[in-house]
Amino acid sequence: MCTRKHLNYVVGLCVFLAVANITPASAQYSLSKTPTGFLYPTGSTDYSLTHDNTCSGFGATSPNMGLGGCYPFPNTYHNGYDITNQPLGTPIQMIADGVVTQISHSGWNCQYSRTTNVAVIVRHHSSDGLEFYALYGHLDISTVPYNILRADGTTSFTAGAFIGRVGDWCNGTHLHFGIYVPQWNGGQESLPYQAGNYDYDPNRIGYGMIGSEHWANFFGWAHPINFIEWKSPMNGGGLTSDARAKADMEQYMRNNTPYGGDPIESSFGSNLNWEPPWELRWMYFGYIFNGNQDYLFVAHATYSNDRTIRYVAYVDPFGTFRGWFPVPR
Ligand SMILES: [Zn+2]
Repeated sequence: MCTRKHLNYVVGLCVFLAVANITPASAQYSLSKTPTGFLYPTGSTDYSLTHDNTCSGFGATSPNMGLGGCYPFPNTYHNGYDITNQPLGTPIQMIADGVVTQISHSGWNCQYSRTTNVAVIVRHHSSDGLEFYALYGHLDISTVPYNILRADGTTSFTAGAFIGRVGDWCNGTHLHFGIYVPQWNGGQESLPYQAGNYDYDPNRIGYGMIGSEHWANFFGWAHPINFIEWKSPMNGGGLTSDARAKADMEQYMRNNTPYGGDPIESSFGSNLNWEPPWELRWMYFGYIFNGNQDYLFVAHATYSNDRTIRYVAYVDPFGTFRGWFPVPR
């Protein structure tokens, strides 16, 4: 399909875009929903025991042990939120549509050598396009459904999906609930630091705690209850930024241009270098045949550094740059 003429044309457009250095001009659980539409992970709004920064709230420190003793880790700060008023075996649900990206096996039991508890990590999106991860910790692995444990990072689950039951914990059973917003330095999407507990290392940056050497740089960890009561969920969220950029582009081209034919995907892919704070996430070449001659166009989607502003731009089949179009939220 791609003749030499096509290839030359495509290369020409790419050079055009690169040289022009164009950037945007300016930058069923109804009772358990948050005011903004997330589901509470335990299915209950009753998290009052730890809603403030007491023993197991976000940012708790070891000196807070006197308030209940559920965070007994010296030299570290708690980067999640323990929902402690739930008994052993409480079913945990996904707070929004999402994609399971990782099962963390380390550090979720009281005895370091035991690995009967895990944390399930799920990628979600808020309605403003922000990508984030939810961490559901101390789940009994024997209760986590097979399709969750074996999730490959591409299978979507819907809000309310059952992901396992709360396992045991020596200082009182609880769900450790965390929210992590990727920092996007260097295009880093996944959680940057491994789990790990019990060494009380002030240099530790783990899935459940941050060493005192680093606090209060939250490294993307947010107060999870505040987050889900402030942001609202995106339906169908959980796609990677690249998949979403591609979907944005295809939808825009289909709805707003005569060039909505089947895309010819290029080798360009994701996370291309682009002028900060903008980041090109995907580029593709579309194909149109007018009955006499076929043409190619090039389009790409670009995101702001914090992923909340999304643009589509394209060059039409006649080589005219068509500018930047914000993607509606
Ligand atoms: Zn915790």
